[in-house]
Amino acid sequence: MKTEKTKCLIIGSGPAGYTAAIYASRANLEPVLYEGIQPGGQLTTTTEVENFPGYPNGITGPEMMEEIKNQALRFGADIRRGIATSCDLSAQPYKVTIDGETLIEAETLIIATGASAKYLGLPDEQKYAGQGVSACATCDGFFYRKKTVAVVGGGDSACEEAIYLAGLASKVYLIVRKDYLRASKIMQERALNHPKIEVLFNTNTLGLFGENGVEGAHLVRFMGQPNEEKFDIAIDGFFLAIGHKPNSDIFRDYLELDEAGYIKTVPGAPKTNLPGVFAAGDVADPDYKQAITAAGSGCKAAIEAERYLAYR
Ligand code: NDP
Repeated sequence: MKTEKTKCLIIGSGPAGYTAAIYASRANLEPVLYEGIQPGGQLTTTTEVENFPGYPNGITGPEMMEEIKNQALRFGADIRRGIATSCDLSAQPYKVTIDGETLIEAETLIIATGASAKYLGLPDEQKYAGQGVSACATCDGFFYRKKTVAVVGGGDSACEEAIYLAGLASKVYLIVRKDYLRASKIMQERALNHPKIEVLFNTNTLGLFGENGVEGAHLVRFMGQPNEEKFDIAIDGFFLAIGHKPNSDIFRDYLELDEAGYIKTVPGAPKTNLPGVFAAGDVADPDYKQAITAAGSGCKAAIEAERYLAYR
């Protein structure tokens, strides 16, 4: 297997990975960054980004990621296509295999592999991707002002997204598969008492319909029960809030993860349980999941990598 050595290996190319690459390059760490399955990360699947400081008129997700990438390239970051397929973090230097064929030996490792929103697995979610289906209310909610939307899920995320969307849309359906909300009491109360939110309990989604984008959803209440009832709702947007899956599987044997799979870091810093291994962005963030917070943690990770190499 081809083997290479680097002072700083960055895995992942969302705002966390690219920002880490900017800082690491400027600190002369000569970072090597592998972009992963989705170059540019989750933001490449959103349309307009309007909440990242510095873009008063907004910018598309793909454009913004291209700009941050170009900024890293300008300082000499070695940005490559490739997916980290396995790793051995049992000893230093840390070893990461790319595409099953290149072994990178790294003195420091910045993991910025992100998280993937969970989808129901309906073919219609693919069919209407970017045309009414979204897994990020904060990113896309603005496009549904005074419209009708549905949010799927019964946890804190779903309640939070439904409440956020209710501030913009004229009506929000919350589609909950059980007969109760799993969310915290306070979030439940806010959602249940919101005049614009209608909670549909015991309800599953069968599919979506519409000529030019989503115009409605086919639903079923009491699925598989004697009193099963199929019905349609008219909606303009369909939001998934059924959880995220952090992309941490290959590190599971070496790094401490929480029960949901997020890499554990020490409070306030992107340090993991291994010296010289840092985790930035959504893979270590169950709470905020924003481009700006990911970029901030990528910056911190690169500064920590620099300090680690200087003082180890
Ligand atoms: P959760 O795992 O808590 O909830 C997921 C929800 O989606 C559940 O109601 C679940 O249903 C539902 N669901 C899962 N799969 C499907 C499916 N295939 N079809 C229909 N519904 C489905 O995820 P969250 O993202 O809401 O929260 C993750 C963590 O983050 C939690 O610990 C939460 O408390 C925390 N969080 C905290 C916030 C806050 O405090 N402000 C905000 C957001 C998240 P079921 O209940 O039937 O399993």
